[in-house]
Amino acid sequence: MKSYGHWIDGAEVSTTAVEQIASTSPWTGETVAQIASGTREDTDSAVAAAAAAFRGWRERKPGARGRLLTAIADALRAEKHMLAELEGAEAGKPGPQSLREIEAAANYFDFYAGLANLPAGEVIDLGPGLHGYTTYEPYGVIGVITPWNAPLNQAARAIAPALLAGNTVVVKPSEFTSTTTLELARIASSAGLPSGVLNVVTGTGLAVGQPLVEHPDVRKLAFTGSLRAGREIGKVAAERVLPLTLELGGKSANIVFADADLEAAAAGAVRAFTANAGQVCSAGTRLLVANEIHEEFVALLLDQVGRVRPGESYGQMTTEDQFTKVQSYFEVARNDGATLAAGGASVGDGWLIEPTVYTDVVNTMSIAREEVFGPVLAVLRFDTEDEAVAIANDSEFGLAAGIWTGDVARAHRVAAQLEAGQVYVNDWLTGLVEGPFGGVKNSGYGREKGMEALKHYTQTKFVAVRL
Ligand code: NAD
Repeated sequence: MKSYGHWIDGAEVSTTAVEQIASTSPWTGETVAQIASGTREDTDSAVAAAAAAFRGWRERKPGARGRLLTAIADALRAEKHMLAELEGAEAGKPGPQSLREIEAAANYFDFYAGLANLPAGEVIDLGPGLHGYTTYEPYGVIGVITPWNAPLNQAARAIAPALLAGNTVVVKPSEFTSTTTLELARIASSAGLPSGVLNVVTGTGLAVGQPLVEHPDVRKLAFTGSLRAGREIGKVAAERVLPLTLELGGKSANIVFADADLEAAAAGAVRAFTANAGQVCSAGTRLLVANEIHEEFVALLLDQVGRVRPGESYGQMTTEDQFTKVQSYFEVARNDGATLAAGGASVGDGWLIEPTVYTDVVNTMSIAREEVFGPVLAVLRFDTEDEAVAIANDSEFGLAAGIWTGDVARAHRVAAQLEAGQVYVNDWLTGLVEGPFGGVKNSGYGREKGMEALKHYTQTKFVAVRL
């Protein structure tokens, strides 16, 4: 078992005489690692290191920053088995899934490396005698706060575009799953990233996260996590006029029309709610099925659900609190009058949950409104296209949505009406690095991923010159 200090200014900070937090494996109950339980002072040191490193980093040519991102991607892949083992143990993921997530984290660095020499602004025609142009400038120090469900992936998703744009970064990972983000900082340093450009401070949301949001030298913050914490951070940020990207929760609708390829839709619907044991903000957890195919489709769905192997197809609930929370919804769903069609129990000694399906759900039930963050699906019915759209949009959240149909016009028509940051047609495609990702309504604002994310890690400056 390893004991980790913070990673500040290119080195691990000693953990001697520092209070520690143990991370536990949901598979075995054993301690995987100890991390430092950080303080405001640790956060201040990390922000100071990032602020000091900013000028040198932003003055590098974009191509040089891009080459370093490529080197980080290569170095992550070189250590992917170690990283996958660590994250698999700490977050409760099966080995192959963990490995895919580490590779996806490396892909972010590759993707943004490839964007290093994009145009850095535009020329604006102000008429004769004037010359106008814009530049996209880094903010300075970016704070990044991540949750426990895809630790390295979510850290890489924010770090790679932030660094490419010329910012320096301080990350506060979840106290339950900090180790792979700490390893990333070490690996990036070994790959040549200058000291202070990427720092990691570990600890709780209150002891480290909040001081990071409050720190005057943090110029922008990217937060991924719960609506509760997002709201608290938003209040602090409002006082400081701190720009935020908020990636919060979801209750994403997946709509199956009668003209869809039902076999494909059933398989896709199961992937959408069981991937990572449903611990995915953009999981498809409300399945809206056309009345005319409801019985046939539910039979196909349950057949697919029967092939899911908890512990292999997906892993454990990452925390005991989450394990308890998911099970509490079994009683809520029963009391609300939903019909249990599959699952509804835990498996074995760990924190594994059966893939669980409720039918006869109406959109007013808690199981249709609240984010469970487990492998639990609510199946609802609709009659018309308009009704499907109305049910899908009747949610406080708006992260992802799915449409299954053989009618291309309907696909575009419905996509245009759905209140969601991303819409998938005839597949459930949450893992793409290339497309912008983020929410509407209480799912948050700002965008990660794709070229779009670069806009959120830069500020536009307009320069006008009298010639
Ligand atoms: P959480 O909000 O409790 O914690 C997320 C992070 O914020 C942790 O690092 C935590 O220590 C920190 N934190 C908590 N309170 C804070 C505060 N007041 N100030 C500063 N930092 C604080 O969420 P979680 O339980 O770790 O993750 C599950 C939630 O994350 C789910 O609701 C899920 O939908 C959401 N999520 C969203 C996305 C997305 O991209 N939209 C992705 C993954 C998870």
